[in-house]
Amino acid sequence: MTQSSQPATPAQPRKPRPLALSPSRASDYQQCPLLYRFRAIDRLPEPKTLAQVKGTLVHAVLEEMHELPREERTYPAAVKMIKPAWEKMRAGDDELDELVPEDQTLDFFVQARALVKGYFEMENPQGFDCQEVEMYVNTVLPNGVPVRGFIDRVDVAPTGEVRVVDYKTGKKPAPRFSHSAQFQMRFYALVYWRLLGTIPTQLRLMYLKVIDSMFLAPTREELEYFERDLGELWARIEGDGKAGTFHPKTSKLCGWCSFQDLCPAFGGTPPAYPGWPGSAADPASTN
Ligand code: SF4
Repeated sequence: MTQSSQPATPAQPRKPRPLALSPSRASDYQQCPLLYRFRAIDRLPEPKTLAQVKGTLVHAVLEEMHELPREERTYPAAVKMIKPAWEKMRAGDDELDELVPEDQTLDFFVQARALVKGYFEMENPQGFDCQEVEMYVNTVLPNGVPVRGFIDRVDVAPTGEVRVVDYKTGKKPAPRFSHSAQFQMRFYALVYWRLLGTIPTQLRLMYLKVIDSMFLAPTREELEYFERDLGELWARIEGDGKAGTFHPKTSKLCGWCSFQDLCPAFGGTPPAYPGWPGSAADPASTN
């Protein structure tokens, strides 16, 4: 069963680019190496989901709201940003019109507004100025692992402590399923440390839907350990990438995979392997 009624689309794959690890791609590989290949190497298109686009919209609104002068960072001001932010996202993207038809737009806005409200119930943005929003990070760790991604927000206290914040618009996972959330937080703490030389004092995941947070306070030892784990993970990905041996690994999550039609575990045939495009850490690759 696929989440979408649409079959895996045979649309043209996008151009390969040097690879780098992000929390999402790391999670893909751990879930299923073949899924990683389809997304990171073949770069096959996938249908967007309503939850994804709602999350993107709310992130855009919060990003823009934080750029206002302090006194203007209010809930009504943020709500007013929802519609223009949506129009901007829709421009030139017909898929969004299909996903959120005209007669469902109001309901979609109401759901986005509830998430924005959740944010304001958790934090007063008039009380501080963030250092960065949607911070693009792209570097190579000292152990040779290329990494990239976006950090939703970085706050720096007047006393110098750094807080890395990520907004979540879905459910908060039960503690036993929080591994991937913690992985993401440690990933960005490590990247921030290696790029800027400061270990974030606090990592905060804000679950806007349930108005709850998850906090971590990483130590240097934890991040060094995590960095070694990432090195091992990347070595496995590179090994599969160079040999072309990304195997399917079935699980309950296959029900949400867009690529069942191409997956040998479901009787499908993957497209010809396009080859390892190299990594951002590989001097032979072009960036
Ligand atoms: S259907 Fe399952 S096994 Fe196949 S590629 Fe997707 S996640 Fe992997």
